[in-house]
Amino acid sequence: MTKQTMKRELEKISQEKGRTELPSVLLCAAECSPFAKTGGLADVVGTLPGELRTLGLDARVILPFHHNIKDKYRYDVEHLCSFAVDLGWRSKFVGVERLVRDRVTYYFIDNEDYFGGKIYLGGPEEIEQYCFFCRAVMEALPHIGFIPDILHCNDWHTAMLPVLQRTQYGWLPQGRSKTVLTIHNIAFQGKCGFKQAKDLLGIEEKFCTPEFLEAYGCCNFLKGGCVFADHITTVSPTYAQEILTPTFSEGLDGILNARRHQLTGILNGIDRSVFNPWNDECLPFRFSASNLKGKAKVKSALLQELGLEDYPGRPLIAMVTRLTEQKGLDLVMRVLDDIMAIPMNFVLLGSGDAKYEEFFRQAENRYKGRLCAYIGYNEELAHRIYAGSDFFLMPSRFEPCGLSQMIAMRYGSLPIVRETGGLKDTVNPYNQYTGEGTGFTFANYNAHEMAHVIHLASTIYPNKEIMDSLILQAMRADYGFANSAYAYAQLFLSLL
Ligand code: ADP
Repeated sequence: MTKQTMKRELEKISQEKGRTELPSVLLCAAECSPFAKTGGLADVVGTLPGELRTLGLDARVILPFHHNIKDKYRYDVEHLCSFAVDLGWRSKFVGVERLVRDRVTYYFIDNEDYFGGKIYLGGPEEIEQYCFFCRAVMEALPHIGFIPDILHCNDWHTAMLPVLQRTQYGWLPQGRSKTVLTIHNIAFQGKCGFKQAKDLLGIEEKFCTPEFLEAYGCCNFLKGGCVFADHITTVSPTYAQEILTPTFSEGLDGILNARRHQLTGILNGIDRSVFNPWNDECLPFRFSASNLKGKAKVKSALLQELGLEDYPGRPLIAMVTRLTEQKGLDLVMRVLDDIMAIPMNFVLLGSGDAKYEEFFRQAENRYKGRLCAYIGYNEELAHRIYAGSDFFLMPSRFEPCGLSQMIAMRYGSLPIVRETGGLKDTVNPYNQYTGEGTGFTFANYNAHEMAHVIHLASTIYPNKEIMDSLILQAMRADYGFANSAYAYAQLFLSLL
């Protein structure tokens, strides 16, 4: 469906509801690309509003004026207003700055005490930091003259907004908005004692129960958001099912099951203009689905850059990842020697837990010339690895959505993934009878199952006809953000 058709469809639904305009939306988040980014959340919050705008919605963003944003955009922003808010007994300064970029309006909440340092302060300071942000957002809405139809909250840092809205702002203009909470990763919930929550946000005693905010003895912000938001979304349909089970829910399956009829999985997408092998400035050669020649040249240049041997007929398998337990690195550690017994090269780009960093450094020594472990964060190299590799390994223990496998497909690197969360929803496993597929998958969190699938992929590799067909199917798979934005827009409309 083209964006024009999507827009027309939305307008039709809107008119049927007797509305003259498509919904206005305010996205609230701790980070937003390109201003402040530590992970995938920033990419989503950075891409969604622009796509919603294209579909005709008035989508704006509000986020903290983190000091790195202030340093860079200090002279570009327009000062809108300043006022004081009460955070319990404290009176705190709030400045609101505005910036319009690519037709999207961004509001920044300024306060040096809370946003003059790290994006996430950690521990109780982080709880206070984002309690302040939630209070400041609620108070800022009438000041900036924008009470959106939809207040779209993201992860625990903004999950107290629906709680405040429903329990403290019900009769005020701010109480008019419908609230949506998107869970990007349920592993992070924002927990503190009730003493702190009452002290900071004036939470009433009657809400400090398992029916509302309490979970396992703590005040749980994400739970509060799940209780009070009008609708809950998460970032893939499969993850939406998985978090209803104790294995994946991190203790929140009770409330999520209670609200399962207001829980939807909407797949994230990637920005296809940023990730485009035809005009990617990080690549030494360009290629596309209709002209694949450059891909082999990118691979040769990459092998040289990484100090890996360039034998014809030897596939390159890659990982670009945070080195954490979530990403299935235990499986790789368990069978690395079996994998390396296959004639293939291996590259890992990542940083994180020391035990994984150490393991891969040692592995590089053991497999000199065949395995490269680049410990660090390097966005440009990441692009070259996506483009120059043949297979992209992502054996995650859990994966709410995952962007890397979509990027890999866009660059013609066939993902080898475990069937969980968004990986299951995006990678179509190779079917030897029909020839269909965009990658390879395995079901269980089991190292030998993973090794078996890697072996299968390596046996397909010499067959150029099958490989080219799979690469083209992967590159043509449409995981752009327009589809996600359309699904969000439909959901927003359904709430009004
Ligand atoms: P998550 O958000 O759980 O880390 P995703 O797959 O959703 O996983 O997104 C990860 C993003 O971060 C991808 O764009 C990936 O390329 C990038 N990335 C991860 N580690 C590195 C690294 N060491 N260097 C460069 N980019 C990285």
